[in-house]
Amino acid sequence: MVMVKTIEALQEAKKLLQGTIGFVPTMGALHQGHLSLIQQARKENDSLIVSIFVNPTQFLEGEDLDAYPRKDEADIKICELIGVDILFMPTVESMYEADELCIGAPAVRGYVLEGEKRPGHFDGMLQVVMKLLNLSGATHAYFGKKDAQQLALITQMVKNYFLDVNIIPCEIVRDEKGLALSSRNVYLRGDEKERALCLSSALKRATKLVISGELDVEKLKKEMLEVLSEADRVEYVAIVSRDFKALKKVEIGNTIILVAAWVGKPRLIDNLWI
Ligand code: AMP
Repeated sequence: MVMVKTIEALQEAKKLLQGTIGFVPTMGALHQGHLSLIQQARKENDSLIVSIFVNPTQFLEGEDLDAYPRKDEADIKICELIGVDILFMPTVESMYEADELCIGAPAVRGYVLEGEKRPGHFDGMLQVVMKLLNLSGATHAYFGKKDAQQLALITQMVKNYFLDVNIIPCEIVRDEKGLALSSRNVYLRGDEKERALCLSSALKRATKLVISGELDVEKLKKEMLEVLSEADRVEYVAIVSRDFKALKKVEIGNTIILVAAWVGKPRLIDNLWI
């Protein structure tokens, strides 16, 4: 594995790669969720690039940019063990200049749910993903369904800007109790880890009801909110189509159920595709 920190070193290291290039962008503090993406990309491609970059432009004022968990040493070892070819860990200065040209999230899909609660987050996310896709020269880029709206917007960016890359959606990885893995889970203390399970429990409750024939979105959301009373604050429960349009009835095969809630210090998100 080659570990590179500058754009020039990345371009140099890329000259040795052959065939398809799998690419997995991350913000580090790697966990099993990230590893599943990296392993899938390893299996499906001749070459593999992983990036670790805590991107400042996707954090809003007052969010946890400075406190975001960082585990560079452990992450480097993990990438080496998995067989990553190039690990790209750029500095903020090498990625951005002042007064940049910016890509904006779409006015509707980019400003509902996560986009409504975190206005500007998706602009910053798309800005860095565009840079990273171009820099990596990826033929296949891997993103988790855990960040469902992010995945939808990246897919749209690739389509709208005619980027020559295949976006590969990857399944959500959970712990043995059902909690979706997240770098921010390290902030869960005491009973919070147990209470955080209410997000996946609410999704399971909705699935059971859908299986039993309940398709009414308002009724499903009401049931989910009861389960979510364990959280400190629920930010949203939403049931939308795969392209993030509001639904009145669940459409099997075209629906995502999403939840965002605060449990202790972290804000957690989870979702289920049905
Ligand atoms: P992050 O480091 O949080 O920016 O995540 C990097 C990539 O890993 C994104 O595509 C995430 O959607 C994905 N990811 C994070 N957590 C999980 C998880 N529990 N299961 C699957 N993918 C995940």
